[in-house]
Parts: sequence; structure tokens; C-alpha cells
Amino acid sequence: MASSSVKVAVRVRPFNSREINRGAKCVIQMQDKSTCIINPKQPKEAPKNFTFDYSYWSHSSVKDPSFASQGKVYQDIGEEMLLHAFEGYNVCIFAYGQTGAGKSYTMMGKQDPGQQGIIPQMCEDLFRQTADNTDPDLSFSVEVSYMEIYCERVRDLLNPKSRGSLRVREHPIMGPYVEDLSKMAVTNYSDIADLMDTGNKARTVAATNMNETSSRSHAVFTILFAQHRHDNMTSLDTEKVSKISLVDLAGSERADSSGAKGMRLKEGANINKSLTTLGKVISALADMQGSKKRRSDFIPYRDSVLTWLLRENLGGNSRTAMIAALSPADINYEETLGTLRYADRAK
Ligand code: ADP
Repeated sequence: MASSSVKVAVRVRPFNSREINRGAKCVIQMQDKSTCIINPKQPKEAPKNFTFDYSYWSHSSVKDPSFASQGKVYQDIGEEMLLHAFEGYNVCIFAYGQTGAGKSYTMMGKQDPGQQGIIPQMCEDLFRQTADNTDPDLSFSVEVSYMEIYCERVRDLLNPKSRGSLRVREHPIMGPYVEDLSKMAVTNYSDIADLMDTGNKARTVAATNMNETSSRSHAVFTILFAQHRHDNMTSLDTEKVSKISLVDLAGSERADSSGAKGMRLKEGANINKSLTTLGKVISALADMQGSKKRRSDFIPYRDSVLTWLLRENLGGNSRTAMIAALSPADINYEETLGTLRYADRAK
């Protein structure tokens, strides 16, 4: 796996109160990198086994030595991706999984100590590292944007006044971008925390107004990290820019499982399409890495707004990580198996 540009992790959360009240049973087992799932209806059937770069057991109390904390997940995945950003790569981290499986917890987490997710930990780490810089010829700048993709349309979460959706365009050199998307310059972690807060509130308000839930949209938080270097000998200035995209994907549950009709069905079809396209793009990239047979024009970036906008963050000069969030409960067996298969294809 070391040569692959896609790192894949799975993480199983504790039972929620609904699962406890229903007397749910845990169908997931993990050991080192491997994860297996037991079919609760066919307990005699052999468990299905999967191997990932990381299998995170968070289905127990924090005191359990095998418990994968927010800090552990950040150390393994966030730190490596931030290092790549300092090296000048574009990086992308996705959280995939059924609604309620732990995507937002993993990406954003909570304010309480030790509960912060990858995004706040990475932002803090970024500013800590830039503050430690002692090279007088090196300086940094950081800009952030926060958008939501719902039914193939893009909304700006940092500009709550911007109603409706923004246009997706293509720059001849820079590639696909969102016209008029706010980019905010930030100089410390608390600026970012305030903007994330604004964005998360805008996401909830928009979802309520549209009678939808935020679990049906993809939230894309982007950090544009630029390193400027001045060469005293030649007086030349150079810039290394890397784009860090941190994505909380829409819930992967199948739309047709709840007998959805009309708008809900359309929503579901759009979600499925973008998640399927993302899966195809990632697995095509993984194959390309492995065999070098496929050419990049086979990669179906254009088939969804999500993959199109993330084109520069997937493949080529980039490093990608996917974290698939799993419910431990027997009642979610089918969805959880679907998530494991999706994660398996991304390797
Ligand atoms: P999603 O974003 O996939 O819809 P959430 O991240 O909102 O799911 O998680 C659902 C609930 O489970 C939340 O209350 C969250 O705090 C809790 N949770 C999820 N993952 C974990 C974990 N690894 N450890 C503790 N609690 C978790």
C-alpha cells in the first residue's frame, strides 16, 4: 500500500442510545489493519474480511487501550496529509458512510477537549508549524473557503447572503472552480474556527429552509496554503501553493430504501451518482498507480460536480485519504457492508 496515493481507513463508532435501547449487537470485529463483519441473519456464515491501511476501533470507552481517539486518527492521517501539503502536494480527505455513522464526528468533531476532529486539529497544527518557522526568507499565507454541494448545485457557506447556487466554471490553467465563492484570508486558528462555525450554522439553516437535512449534501472545506520564498542571491520570489480539501460526504444510505418519491428520489439519485463517480475516480486512480496502464483521460471527473471540483485534489500531484465511518449495529448490517465494499474498492 505504501506506493498508493490513496490511504483508506475505516472507523467504527460506539452504539448510540437508540441502538442500546433496542439491544443491538455489534457485527464488527477488528484486529490490526483488518476489519470483519458478521451477518446477523446468518451467524454461521463465514465473516467477511477486509484489510485497510487503518482499522479504527472506536466502539468502546475512551479508557479502553484499543480505543482509537480523535488524536490517534489525526496523528495517522491528518499529520501525514499536512506534511504532504508542506511538500507542495494537493491533499484531500473524505469521510464516507451512512448518516449517523460518524463522518462529521471524524471530520469536525466537538468542541470539548479531546473531541476535535481532523479539520480543527489540522488547522491548529498548520498554524503551529508556520509559527515555528525561523527562516526569514520563507513566509506563508492561508485562505479558506467552505461550500456545500446539494443536488449538483454549489452553495457558499461563508456568505450566507448569497442565495441560490454558484456557477461552476473552468479556468484554462487552474482548472475547475466555483465563480464568486468567498475565500477568506486567515492568520490564526481562531479565525478559521469562527468561519467554520459560520459555515456550519449556514449549512443547518439552509437545510431547514429547504426541508432537507444536511446529511444529503456534501460539505467541502478548503484551505489554500501558500508558501512564499525569497531567494536573496537571485532576488527571485517563488510560491508553492497547495490545496487541502476536507470533505464530509452526503450520507451513503440508499435513497430507495425508504420508498422515496419526487424531490427525495431526485436527491437520492444525485447523491448516489456523485458517490458512485467518486468511487470510480478513486479506484481508477488507484489502478493507474498500480499498473500505470490507464491514462488520466479515462477518469470520469466530469460525471459529478463533486469530482469535477476536486479534480486537482485527486490524482496527479495529490494525496488522498478516505475514512469510511461504520455503525457497529446489527440493524445497519447491509449499509455497513456496502460502506466496507466501497472503501475496499478505493484501495
Ligand atoms: P454522520 O456525520 O455520519 O451523520 P455523526 O458524526 O453526526 O454522523 O455521528 C453520529 C453520532 O455518533 C454523534 O452524536 C457523534 O457524536 C457520535 N459518534 C460518531 N462517531 C463517534 C466516535 N468515534 N466516538 C464517539 N462518538 C461518536
